[in-house]
Amino acid sequence: MATAAQLAGWRSCPRCGTALEHGDRSVSCPSCGLEEYANPAPTASALVRDDDGRILLARRAGDPGKGLWDLLGGFMDEGEEPLETLRRELREETGLELEVGDFLGGIPDTYGDGGPATVNLYWSATVAGGESRPADDVAELAWFPQDELPPRDDFAFANTIELLERAGAAFGEAER
Ligand SMILES: [Zn+2]
Repeated sequence: MATAAQLAGWRSCPRCGTALEHGDRSVSCPSCGLEEYANPAPTASALVRDDDGRILLARRAGDPGKGLWDLLGGFMDEGEEPLETLRRELREETGLELEVGDFLGGIPDTYGDGGPATVNLYWSATVAGGESRPADDVAELAWFPQDELPPRDDFAFANTIELLERAGAAFGEAER
């Protein structure tokens, strides 16, 4: 039975309890007509650089990926435009205001192992103002030279590594 990964574990209708029918990209309920599609949740994130080309990373305070490095950004709210999400998340997580530059691309991933599917939209950015103060969900903020990033194993999400590789960044060696 081919079924979308995100919905593979769904057995019964969350609305009426009837057994669901699984299709390639969705599940449907033969009783009440509910249809759920396995669309990824969009996020908006920033590759923030300073005048020296250093990259701003955040160490995550919670799971998934607690204690691991991440780029700054987050999930879009309903009715929000991606750049609104980006500016809101940066303000909430760091206290910083952004000057947003080029769109860098969208990279599919999951939010943690076996977690919901995401598509992660990235923009380049610089700091335009504000005062840096990590929020509750950020354990630490730090600037890294782009050829001296932490090792790949110290990052929370594969899409972050992919984006940083595309941007020409280099990672440190993991300690063994
Ligand atoms: Zn139903």
